[in-house]
Amino acid sequence: MEKESLKYQRLREEMLRQQIEARGITDPRVLAAMRKVPRHVFVSEALRDQSYGDFPLPIGEQQTISQPYIVAEMTQALELTEEDRVLEIGTGSGYQAAILAEIAYRVYTIERIRSLYLQARKLFDEMRLFNIVTRYGDGTKGWEEESPFDAIIVTAGAPGLPSALLSQLSVGGRLVVPVGNQHAQDLIRITKDKRGVHQTNLGGCRFVKLVGEQGWKEF
Ligand code: SAH
Repeated sequence: MEKESLKYQRLREEMLRQQIEARGITDPRVLAAMRKVPRHVFVSEALRDQSYGDFPLPIGEQQTISQPYIVAEMTQALELTEEDRVLEIGTGSGYQAAILAEIAYRVYTIERIRSLYLQARKLFDEMRLFNIVTRYGDGTKGWEEESPFDAIIVTAGAPGLPSALLSQLSVGGRLVVPVGNQHAQDLIRITKDKRGVHQTNLGGCRFVKLVGEQGWKEF
């Protein structure tokens, strides 16, 4: 058991050096979180040895855990502090939520596929990540009762910016969302201040579909 965790610790350090730091992630809070959270725990046993590789991996239900670098890039773009309340759309494996939970005050995460929701919930309990609150449902409508949020992260590709999420972002808040078609998207970062909304494009990316009322229609 101890040998096992040492092995993953080493793979994690290598991931940090070769994929995260080498590509310019500098926020110390993001680096510390990625160094700490055991990514291998968020994939099936058969995939654990590959979990620190430079690619996404399947997590069942035709969904994926994002590539480590994209998790770091999106987290850094949120500019989180320890006081922030963050909303995540697309819990999936729970890995991104666990990274957010290391940095922020509280994480609210929504997943639309029941089996993934249940599994992530169980993991958060086992890992004693008590500052993560989970919800089963369509995240494109946001989480009205808990809004506004200091930061919002969408980890699935949207056809456009879900307006509910924008309205649930606090003044001073940051929102990161992949927007595009079903094959390729741009990672869009939105900030809100007293004068309005500002948008920058962080570059190309590829995510699974955001399915819901303000996303893609699956049925
Ligand atoms: N953040 C995840 C990435 C999972 S992939 C991780 O770290 O593993 C994207 C996830 O978004 C999938 O699990 C998918 O089911 C979920 N999803 C897609 N549309 C959604 C919606 N409208 N509301 C909530 N979750 C959604």
